[in-house]
Amino acid sequence: QETQPSEAELRKTVCPFCAVGCSIWAEVENGVWIGQEPVFESPVNMGTHCAKGAAAREIVIGDRRLKYPTKLENGRWKRVSWEEAINEIGERMLQIREKAGPDSVYWLGSAKFSNEAAYLFRKFAALWGTNNVDHQARICHSTTVAGVANSFGYGAMTNSFNDIHNSKSIFLIGGNPAEAHPVSMLHLLHAKENGAKLIVIDPRFTRTAAHADEFVRIRTGSDIAFMWGVLWHILENGWEDKEFLDQRVYGFDEIRKEVAKYTPEEAERITGVPRDQIERVARTVAENRPGTLIWCMGLTQSTIGSSNTRAASILQLALGNIGKSGGGANIFRGHDNVQGATDLGVLCHTLPAYYGLTANAWKHWARVWDLDYEWIKGRFGSQELMEQNGIPVSRWFDGVLEAKENLDQPDNIRAMVFWGHAPNSQTRGPDVKKGLEGVDLLVVVDPYPTLSAVMGDRQDGVYLLPAGSTMEIAGSATNSQRALQWREKVVEPAFESKGDYEIMHLFARKFGFDKQLFKHIRVENDEPVAEDILREINRGTWTIGYTGQSPERLKLHMEHQDKFDTTTLMGMSGPVQGEYYGLPWPSWGPPTMAHPGTRSLWDQSISVAEGGLPFRARWGVEHNGQNLLAEGSYPPGSEIEDGYPEFTFAMLEKLGWVNDLTAREKLVIAAVAADTFTPDMLTADESDAQSRLRQLLQEQNAMDAAILPAPAVPDQAAGEDEGEADLGGGGEGLDQPRLDDGDSFSDKLA
Ligand code: SF4
Repeated sequence: QETQPSEAELRKTVCPFCAVGCSIWAEVENGVWIGQEPVFESPVNMGTHCAKGAAAREIVIGDRRLKYPTKLENGRWKRVSWEEAINEIGERMLQIREKAGPDSVYWLGSAKFSNEAAYLFRKFAALWGTNNVDHQARICHSTTVAGVANSFGYGAMTNSFNDIHNSKSIFLIGGNPAEAHPVSMLHLLHAKENGAKLIVIDPRFTRTAAHADEFVRIRTGSDIAFMWGVLWHILENGWEDKEFLDQRVYGFDEIRKEVAKYTPEEAERITGVPRDQIERVARTVAENRPGTLIWCMGLTQSTIGSSNTRAASILQLALGNIGKSGGGANIFRGHDNVQGATDLGVLCHTLPAYYGLTANAWKHWARVWDLDYEWIKGRFGSQELMEQNGIPVSRWFDGVLEAKENLDQPDNIRAMVFWGHAPNSQTRGPDVKKGLEGVDLLVVVDPYPTLSAVMGDRQDGVYLLPAGSTMEIAGSATNSQRALQWREKVVEPAFESKGDYEIMHLFARKFGFDKQLFKHIRVENDEPVAEDILREINRGTWTIGYTGQSPERLKLHMEHQDKFDTTTLMGMSGPVQGEYYGLPWPSWGPPTMAHPGTRSLWDQSISVAEGGLPFRARWGVEHNGQNLLAEGSYPPGSEIEDGYPEFTFAMLEKLGWVNDLTAREKLVIAAVAADTFTPDMLTADESDAQSRLRQLLQEQNAMDAAILPAPAVPDQAAGEDEGEADLGGGGEGLDQPRLDDGDSFSDKLA
């Protein structure tokens, strides 16, 4: 019997489950998603899927999908139209706002948002007038961001999944990728085939442990003692990378003192791991370099999560494994776009791109949004409220319980919005339940009914709004290795559900700030255009380099996954052909929009004197975390407590990326970032561009110092040198706290 060839159209998208970011072909026929295949040419999944990814279609066709808006009234769910729902919710929220202030409504967003939805959601909350906005990152990898950013500068995975093939050893702690990130395991196994030694450290014997050359069963909570026990042997035997430490790493002497306490006997006592095994692990990682260190939430979801991730980062610094292929701190993130939602500020203490909540940071975004700063301030009610951190998701219910006890007090939480978020993984379940029962209004926006809607024992005041799933809107997502990938809309939102952008538009219109929210974003048939949202993101995110990932470039990357070769197509050096997908941040543009993205952070081949960034290892860490923040260790104003550091222009321009660009290109990038671009810069000659850039950076550095409480970046580039390394003025004008005690890089370089 002859079979007819399928008429189905193929659409390429990205798996909606974990942050590995595998590509999927979706087969669509007559607007119905009928089948799916993994994409062979995707460098990350190479024609494979895990069981979760293979069920991506189920998200769309699942029979428990919310079909239409409903509300809970007198204990019964009642169907309502979108118009009724938006009107009723909107009226109620405006009343609550009027009575209790804008902070009385909490906007809880999602790591399942596209980048564009995440950004729009943060902007939406800002225009509503609150910093009470957060998402799942708070309870998964926020401790990683704190630990890693304070070691290296950016709180993200340093290398890539593919690069693990180049590792000679893999130190995997607190993770089980064989089950949680299954396709990433493929890369670990490839590395093993290449001869890498796999060491798995876990209290449990997992499926990943089954592949280990060395399985280390440690006592729960003894991660730091184990890592320091390993480091004790490394230092005792002189296996550390002395040159790297000397040239790049601050404060390692403090670590030596700390680690000296973790003798073999002491480490064995705390961890329960035989001392011989600890020594064997140390020898293995020392003899098999470069090696990667991978961790997941076994390390982060802890009361001392930041200490754990600091210790892991410092271990990699000691081995000289940072800034080189095969090395790195490779942190596997959870949800498909938790990295992007974090980068774009769905958080109660930052604006997009890790801008803090300071007045100047708000001014930056007001300029990008083309809105009057005073008007935004008016939405909050005062400068103080605008600059004040919101309540983190881990404690939103405290705000509700407080409201119950202080009915006349403003700014306590009276309405909760759970948008792609359920409280399943929150601790303090009884308080969560009380919180869900305590609000006047509970709005759940989700493709499926979730625990958020039913956990509280309520009779009224709950709305369930059907959202389109990840696969039913277009937009980009940033996977664990910082790579942005474009997802096509596979099918239209099912039943009466609507995409996130459209729902935000409906609410904004009801609240009367749609004109401001979408001032430079086209809205077509009530649906804001995802590409325009990304273009706005591109305009404002120079601190992390989301500026070069235009929608056009991302689409081109998806189209040419196997053969995209920036070396030939863009005329710049770039990733190895076929190895990369998406554009990992930082990727810079304009003017050229040719930056290939940053495959590996902190390239060791760029010396500190040339602008490479040094690292910080100076804070003591004890296994019980008590001494993590030795008094006075953190610069005043740094945001350690809340998890994230903030970046300054001075930090940015010390990164290696600047070395690839001409002075004119740097000038244009810097000017666009600082909102001082003028077209004549495009034709400035090199020496003119050089001097204008120097002046701009000096002004900008001074402004950074005023804007952002920067972490203590060593002021190593300060000096008289007129060369490339001095382009930032070397910290001139910076009022940053200096790392102390004559142990500075300037001293070392001298
Ligand atoms: Fe999806 Fe992650 Fe599985 Fe890949 S490894 S198919 S991204 S769940």
